[in-house]
Amino acid sequence: MKTFRRIGILTSGGDAPGMNAAIRAITRTAIARGVEVMGIYSGYEGLIEGNVKPFGIRDVSNIVNHGGTVLYSARSPRFKTEEGMQAAMATCRAYNIDGIVAIGGDGTFRGATDLTARGVSCIGLPGTIDNDITATDYTIGFDTAMNTAIEMIDRLRDTSESHARCSVVEVMGRDAGDIALQTGIAVGATAAVVPEITFDEAALVAKIKKSREIGKRNFIVVVSEGMGHDFSERLTSRIEEETGVESRFARLAHVIRGGTPSLRDRLLASRMGEFAVDELLKGRSNEVICDCNNEICAIDIEYALILDRMYKNKLKEGDLDRFTKDQIAEMQATCAKRRADIESLYETVNLLGL
Ligand code: ADP
Repeated sequence: MKTFRRIGILTSGGDAPGMNAAIRAITRTAIARGVEVMGIYSGYEGLIEGNVKPFGIRDVSNIVNHGGTVLYSARSPRFKTEEGMQAAMATCRAYNIDGIVAIGGDGTFRGATDLTARGVSCIGLPGTIDNDITATDYTIGFDTAMNTAIEMIDRLRDTSESHARCSVVEVMGRDAGDIALQTGIAVGATAAVVPEITFDEAALVAKIKKSREIGKRNFIVVVSEGMGHDFSERLTSRIEEETGVESRFARLAHVIRGGTPSLRDRLLASRMGEFAVDELLKGRSNEVICDCNNEICAIDIEYALILDRMYKNKLKEGDLDRFTKDQIAEMQATCAKRRADIESLYETVNLLGL
């Protein structure tokens, strides 16, 4: 079995609160197991450039409570080229990095697979506020982002109530409506608009009109960014024109990507970080660490990536060839459950947001 002298840690893609807790957990677990740690700065770009630094126990002091990532993050188009990949491998050889824990989203995991294929064992940790990694119930950063969103929207509700307005609030989430739906329920939204479910604008207009007639003063509509860039502004104008309720649009954007990580994200990141190192040291690689029904588990990266494609209806010819019938059935069941969960949340927003 491979023995590890030194492992690297990097954060890549969009940052998320809780990444620092993961960096701390990975560093301290590795050192406790007798393995050295290198911090790799700015994701795969730093690996290409050799922007690395030895990390000791004290290098990760006082970071568990901070948002962002002390290792910084960057997109690295170069890493996708053969030249970039060779440079990254040269850094691994030069610094004796035998394994890497890569924290990020699906792009980050693809990079981890490429490195693993060349002999550097990689494990992925799901760090993204969007909760859009189908294999895991929760991603690191999702809970904090939603808590920030509800704090912001509660503030909007105060002023909407004073002025009898409707607030249309756009939240991040890329193609996933998870943030919009869960925060929608938590803030008592009249509606949540998400890309997964066809939205009936006329029904929302009718609902707002009716509620106004029976005395409701403020309205909150939470829209997922996955609806497209101009959607929210246009919906805001339509609500105002057709209901007569003064309406304002607010885009929370990157505000919800920062801030103090919640208990849940710190805990998830810490448990996943510890688990990732132990997986590596057991000789495992090319896995993404997941939260499966509140248990930390490891799932093959290729499986996780194809599951994502299945969920997003983006499967390509031959994608399922390497999987058994049972695995495909399991993937289909996971997608069906996730879709049912989204629909159920959607119904709850509508039922309660009167
Ligand atoms: P996320 O990890 O949040 O999905 P990106 O899609 O931007 O974010 O990916 C982060 C980084 O991972 C990219 O900048 C690139 O260096 C690397 N990456 C993305 N896609 C691939 C790929 N297909 N092959 C190899 N590396 C990739």
